[in-house]
Amino acid sequence: MPSAVTPQEIEQAIRNVPDFPKAGIQFKDITPVLADARLFAGAIELLTEQFRPGSVDAVVGIDARGFIFAAAAATRLQCGFVPVRKKGKLPYRTIEQDYALEYGQATVAMHVDALKPGARVILIDDLLATGGTAAAAAALVKKLGARILEITFLIELKFLNGREKLKGHPVRSVITY
Ligand code: AMP
Repeated sequence: MPSAVTPQEIEQAIRNVPDFPKAGIQFKDITPVLADARLFAGAIELLTEQFRPGSVDAVVGIDARGFIFAAAAATRLQCGFVPVRKKGKLPYRTIEQDYALEYGQATVAMHVDALKPGARVILIDDLLATGGTAAAAAALVKKLGARILEITFLIELKFLNGREKLKGHPVRSVITY
């Protein structure tokens, strides 16, 4: 059996792109992790290591890079995958949640019937920055009466204090900067 992937190996593969999409942002590019079969599988292992198949009813993924990790995590946990999308993308009836951006605001949406009340849910995104996106997604899960077991990120930018916005939920990240 190949050796287990460590968070350090994933960290080494993440590419830092300065000033993308605008000046001052250090963009964490996860595509080299996805392109490496062993690292991608290892990232999914690390994201889901707290849970066994049968203990989770759905993995909720956040638009757009969160989908990649959340969908793979759902197949590993043998449960469903539910997308939280930017407003206007989902075809059926939705519930929506606004959240603040640095300038202005954004809205995320989920199908009204995406989760059953009481469903055991993990929320996954690639990266925790200020926490606004994940907090809005968590609010949608709660509106449908589902239970959040954990909010899980591949990467956390600790200096932005995103966890503050996620108080009351267990939060875990594989790599922190
Ligand atoms: P926030 O709502 O501030 O926590 O922002 C989180 C969302 O923005 C995530 O879905 C990330 O994909 C994306 N994001 C924010 N900052 C970065 C960054 N430095 N590198 C890559 N993605 C980022």
